[in-house]
Amino acid sequence: MALYGAPIWAGRLTRRAKALLRRPQRYVAQRMVRAYRTTSHAATCLLAGTPAWELDAGVLAERYWARVEARRRGEPTDAEEAERLARAAAERLKQRWRDALEDSHYGTRTIGAILPVMDEWLGRRKGALTFRVTQVVSGHGCFGHYLHKIQREPGPQCHECGAMDDTAQHTLEECNRWAVERAALRAATGVIDLSLHSIIAAMLGSERNWEAVASFCEEVMSQKEKAERERETSADAIPLRRRRQGQRQRVHLTASSFPQILSTAPLESLSNFRLNYSPCARRSGPLVCFGFGQLADMHIGPGVSNRSPVDVEPSPEFP
Ligand SMILES: [Zn+2]
Repeated sequence: MALYGAPIWAGRLTRRAKALLRRPQRYVAQRMVRAYRTTSHAATCLLAGTPAWELDAGVLAERYWARVEARRRGEPTDAEEAERLARAAAERLKQRWRDALEDSHYGTRTIGAILPVMDEWLGRRKGALTFRVTQVVSGHGCFGHYLHKIQREPGPQCHECGAMDDTAQHTLEECNRWAVERAALRAATGVIDLSLHSIIAAMLGSERNWEAVASFCEEVMSQKEKAERERETSADAIPLRRRRQGQRQRVHLTASSFPQILSTAPLESLSNFRLNYSPCARRSGPLVCFGFGQLADMHIGPGVSNRSPVDVEPSPEFP
């Protein structure tokens, strides 16, 4: 749907139009691979296996105009020729995608690890990315380095072993705290070098390896998240680390959760709420503005499933 009419507009995409096109794609891809919202467009799309829409649109447009030209010359393409052209277009798209990834300035660790095995990554039949595998692969997750970058930690140090920089790679390869889990991972996969590229290659090598990596990520990241939650909620937590109360609360919108929101939220806080369905919706401004009296009549718009997360936030500008 996003590529509807691509032959008309693909050649006229401005820098700003490309950015607008990337935003919803990034959002969808992040959902597919359960990535943090800060994960780059390039890395998330590669993880999800979807080329950038502007590249896709360009190749679609070329195919369309080639067909138009062939018809104009009175040389309609037969089925076999059409098949050959489709394969060539798919190859062209993949090559342009690869070139764009090589030039990307963001998500370079993830991209660098997957690029050498890109065909296998895209062609795999099994191997879903879980929230915790994606954290380790993308580096965006419960790591001191990342939390410091988004200003949730005063420094990038590792709380487990005291290392200066708690990156995803530190967790995967170095941190003493996870030596037992790491030994189990090495025993299960036979992989000694735990660079991200080796790990990705091992995951693609067999289903058993994929499961072993997923199990390592699950065990380690769940413990890191638990420790992080404890640090956030402890009585002497520094303000930077504390969960932000009253600013934004993410809830899952279900048919039955509205009455819950109504019944559990303090009455006075319900009078000024704005609900945004999603970042895509937020781009075009708040879709739903209402006061307490209108809440029960809220309409769930098209394309929004009843499990879509919504951001519920106080909205002083919509009394
Ligand atoms: Zn450590």
